[in-house]
Amino acid sequence: MNGSPRRMAWFGTLSLLFLLALFARTLPVASESAQQVEPVKVIPVQGNVYMLQFSNTLGNIGVLPGPDGVLLIDDQVPGMTDNVLRGVREITDEEIRFVINTHVHMDHFGGNPILADMGATIISHKNVRDRMFQPHHTPRRGGTYAATPISEANRPILTFEDAMSFHMNGEDVRVWLVPSAHTDGDAFTYFAQSDVLHTGDVFRTNMYPIIDVFNGGSLAGTIAATEAAIALAGPNTKVIPGHGDGFTDRDGLIEVLDMMVDIRDTIQDMIVSGMHLEEVLAARPTAEYDEQWGQVATWNAKDIVPIIYNELGGGPTLLR
Ligand SMILES: [Zn+2]
Repeated sequence: MNGSPRRMAWFGTLSLLFLLALFARTLPVASESAQQVEPVKVIPVQGNVYMLQFSNTLGNIGVLPGPDGVLLIDDQVPGMTDNVLRGVREITDEEIRFVINTHVHMDHFGGNPILADMGATIISHKNVRDRMFQPHHTPRRGGTYAATPISEANRPILTFEDAMSFHMNGEDVRVWLVPSAHTDGDAFTYFAQSDVLHTGDVFRTNMYPIIDVFNGGSLAGTIAATEAAIALAGPNTKVIPGHGDGFTDRDGLIEVLDMMVDIRDTIQDMIVSGMHLEEVLAARPTAEYDEQWGQVATWNAKDIVPIIYNELGGGPTLLR
């Protein structure tokens, strides 16, 4: 073979790529740069409600598809939106019409800018939107400060104070503010006909509850909100946790509630007996639960015990 046809072939390929690149710039693309492809687990939960889950264990997404358009609960971190869209497309081709942000953490609203550009209406509690204007403290590793860059494009254009309802796709969907638990803007979402509850990060099944005191969270609120979820749930209710593998049910909520109440009471007794925080930590009030709930390096007993100690009015803190 002489060189000429090969050169022509290369020229043809390059021209095609150039034309494709030009064409691609004129299309409404999902993101400005290609995102890494992550396997998405599409899990039918119950009735008409699905969940999307990714191996990064970040926020679990709820999906209600149907002819009135898709309602999403949460939308993962910014770099995952292509994968979120791929998961939704495995369920339906309908447009994404509404996105509810359950709270102000980036792994639950990172897809907002792209989804809003695609025409979705972003919705959250008023406190979530207000906090999106502030620099963030993250609750991990004892509360490391992180200046999360928040762009105007992230912000919900529709907010609620106490509750709101959607009536779409044959489903009555109620969204409401729960007691300040994980943060002070936590929303539960309940799909009445499908009998599915999405809790956001108030409830998780992969580690101790994260009580984000930098964003208004509290143990008392986490317990109260979990009790409210248990009161709502019936024997067939399915519960999508903010984090954790798959979905669970009322018994899953009760297990976490019992754990939290036991740890709270143990620490309260230690405070009453005059123990300093260092002594409480050394006494390991979470010992019997650590194997199941305390295995994540960035959030375990040494993170949650000081927060509970402080909330319960513990004595002088020797640790800083
Ligand atoms: Zn969170």
